[in-house]
Amino acid sequence: MTSANDILNLIQEHDVRFVRFIWCDNANVIRAKAVRTTFIRDYLDGEGVGIAAAQQALPVMYDALAPGSGLTPAGEAHMRADWRTFAVLPYARGHARVLTDIYAGEQPWAHCPRSFLRRMIARAAERGLQVFAAFENEFSLLRPSDRGPQPFDTTVFCQTWALDQATPIINAITEALEAQGIQVEMTYPESGPGQFELPVRYADALRAADNQIIFRETVKAVAHQHGALASFVPKIYPDKAGNGAHLHFSLQRDGHSIVVEPGQPHQLTAEMRAFMAGVLHHLPALMALTTPSVNSFKRIRPRFWSGAYTCWGIGNREAALRAPQPSAGRPITNIELKTSDATANPYLALGAVIAAGMDGIARDMRLGEPVTGDPADLSDEERAARGIRQLPASLGEAIAALEGDEVLLDALGDDLARSYLAVRRAEWEAMKHMPHEEEVRLLLERY
Ligand code: GLU
Ligand code: MG
Repeated sequence: MTSANDILNLIQEHDVRFVRFIWCDNANVIRAKAVRTTFIRDYLDGEGVGIAAAQQALPVMYDALAPGSGLTPAGEAHMRADWRTFAVLPYARGHARVLTDIYAGEQPWAHCPRSFLRRMIARAAERGLQVFAAFENEFSLLRPSDRGPQPFDTTVFCQTWALDQATPIINAITEALEAQGIQVEMTYPESGPGQFELPVRYADALRAADNQIIFRETVKAVAHQHGALASFVPKIYPDKAGNGAHLHFSLQRDGHSIVVEPGQPHQLTAEMRAFMAGVLHHLPALMALTTPSVNSFKRIRPRFWSGAYTCWGIGNREAALRAPQPSAGRPITNIELKTSDATANPYLALGAVIAAGMDGIARDMRLGEPVTGDPADLSDEERAARGIRQLPASLGEAIAALEGDEVLLDALGDDLARSYLAVRRAEWEAMKHMPHEEEVRLLLERY
């Protein structure tokens, strides 16, 4: 759906009053300015909808500039609609939305996350590679109460009673996603209180990141229509399972998967192994982009199936990188990064994963042996001997790792690296000593 006429027809047909121009910022807050459709012709092409450049300097806590971002209250950038992403919103009558690239004049803006992902996709394409991906989200449903939001259920993993209580919400989310072109593959209650998982079909990298924005928007809005609050905050309940957004990825060349190759170590192609080695090599720094909030690090703990060490495994849910267990007739189709959650801006997270993986390929990095058991059960000496490092335990440590990672900084570019790190640092300083309840209260409706 791309031509101006198509858009105008859809607007008329569905009685659309507003078109939301959506962007996702360095704090991973999804924002929109909505254009009244009587004036939409002015925005079909041309410079688009203006936003303050300072928008890319806002931390999650409030609308005030993080120091050191390189951005000031002066200056403007413009959201240009990618009309292929236009959709009438199934959960907001009279509203449609379109995802945008942010421009400075005629050029993509250096601080634009979606343009960063486009650059990394192009970098992979220079080697003839196409990246495919899917974010596999877990989220928590809560009910409002006088005592604040309470978990929707207190069930355990896959307990059907949780599905029975949430059937109308899960069905409505599924219908709304499918109406927006996202294919739902499965759903089940996850381990935590009120926790659900709803994996969706993979897509090319740009579409996969777009899908993550659409998914988060849809889940929150539809749950709200049913009187519930859906939240993607990684760790709401300190001693219960956290919410991951595992990042699944695969590589293609000329339209064919190049993940597996019989006869190769672990049946994985040399390129796939090097890509994985690159991701593991950069993972401590990558975490500042894939698990970027103060809260994220409460989830990444040994023995919570969230990937706390730089290792990979086959069918191993404690490994940061998991190759799904191959079975007869079903080879490995993709690799899963567990060290990822939905407080990550999907364009930055996926773009950085591609940058790390492509560095692994460019430098022909070696993937070590897979870990078979729980890496937490190995002694310190065994882990050291196998090159397995414990991942950063706090956002502060991940920021320091990113500050020292020339490859990722170079991929982001000076401007985006600067504004992004300024936002991370501001969040770390504001929240590092914040009591857990206060932190969750602050984040619960942001993500
Ligand atoms: N909830 C776990 C996490 O924090 C993942 C559980 C699983 O699906 O393997 O990532
Ligand atoms: Mg899960």
